[in-house]
Amino acid sequence: MLGPALHSAADSRKVTRVTLFDEAPVRAILLDIEGTTTPVDFVTKTLFPYASRKLEAFLRENVKNAEVRALMQEFRAQRELDEQSGRKPPSWHDDSEEERLRSSAEYGQWLIARDSKCTPLKTLQGKIWQQGYASGELKGEVYPDVPVAFERWKRQGKRICIYSSGSALAQQLLFGSVATGDLTPHIAAFFDTQVGAKSEAQSYRKIAAAVSLETSHFLFLSDAKKEIEAARAAGVQTLLCERDVHSAAAGSTTQVIHDFNDIFPE
Ligand SMILES: [Mg+2]
Repeated sequence: MLGPALHSAADSRKVTRVTLFDEAPVRAILLDIEGTTTPVDFVTKTLFPYASRKLEAFLRENVKNAEVRALMQEFRAQRELDEQSGRKPPSWHDDSEEERLRSSAEYGQWLIARDSKCTPLKTLQGKIWQQGYASGELKGEVYPDVPVAFERWKRQGKRICIYSSGSALAQQLLFGSVATGDLTPHIAAFFDTQVGAKSEAQSYRKIAAAVSLETSHFLFLSDAKKEIEAARAAGVQTLLCERDVHSAAAGSTTQVIHDFNDIFPE
């Protein structure tokens, strides 16, 4: 059900605001990052090339670390799956530690170039970005309306949650290092692919359960129609975020927004 619609010029200001969703049940706002809170370019032109560039050195420095070794094993298994499904990943050599390390780095770079969402890659990228943020080489980026909206929603008692295919660690680092200051105190929870794929309805049910809410208490914003459809199938209210006004979703059956200013304005 939609909120108050436009009536006539004689109506008071209170009813001239058209709402794109039913505001009453919303207690939490769930946000995608890439293309929603953050320009796609930051991810594709800053974060991905950084991880790709640093991957081999990172593996080399951490080759004794049990978790990193386990991630390399997961890479190997994942690579076999890729090969079985007809893709052409780089070859894998396992005869020495040096070969395994190089194979892991090459395969990881291949995954990054394909914008793979596989969990071991996302975990490794998160660790590499952590070093970049810690050294100040990387700084998180958000659209200008985002810090203002976070302040406003928090003041209104809404819980702000993030759901991105980037690891929860990477998400925290991004929001913790934006130019206007640390945004993480505004954020109640971070979710990544550990709860499942963003294109599956079940993931949204798990997220709701994790913060002890019903799916109907959530408003989800994303620039990806598949994610919007999955969230909706789980009973979540949704808005498609179109940051690039020129690419407006013509004929879209879903409600579209271009920034956060119209969501729970004051
Ligand atoms: Mg997105």
